[in-house]
Amino acid sequence: TELSKMILDKIRDVPDYPKPGVLFKDITPLLADPVTMAAVVDELAGLHQVDKIVGIEARGFILAAPVAYRAAAGFVPVRKKGKLPAETLEESYDLEYGSATIEVHRDAFAPGDRVLIVDDVLATGGTAKATVDLVQRAGARVVAIAVLMELGFLKGRDRVEGVELHSLVIV
Ligand code: IMP
Repeated sequence: TELSKMILDKIRDVPDYPKPGVLFKDITPLLADPVTMAAVVDELAGLHQVDKIVGIEARGFILAAPVAYRAAAGFVPVRKKGKLPAETLEESYDLEYGSATIEVHRDAFAPGDRVLIVDDVLATGGTAKATVDLVQRAGARVVAIAVLMELGFLKGRDRVEGVELHSLVIV
């Protein structure tokens, strides 16, 4: 589609970041382009009627906050462990080497809130799956996950099976 072409044109491949052999998708050119950014935010905001938009630290925040504003929904941050000040729920997941833990405030949602989870890139799907589990444990309903870009070859989609997944671009 027209939008996916616009997005692809504004995402830069950075080889060997954060370590040798990884081709990192850098969204900063897209963030710096107001026309593409507005088109992305409008598209994401129009996907579903929801009560809350969840953004995943840190690049997810940059997309999720304007989407929440546009959708007239609340914004809820999911953060790396140790960053949220009040009582939290946490969820750990495996990385290639070691593990990661993310958190959300226990009282971030009203019971049954409809939620859209937003992030920049879906890679292995570990982060998205952990976020789905967190949001559900906090008493809300995950309506869908939406990402700018899905790295199809990593099969992250399989990890979040059963949850609707919107990817504006699949590479
Ligand atoms: P996953 O848990 O393996 O799916 O990794 C997804 C998380 O890592 C997301 O929060 C992304 O922001 C980040 N990530 C992984 N690969 C990339 C990339 O190539 N570009 C930007 N972010 C990435």
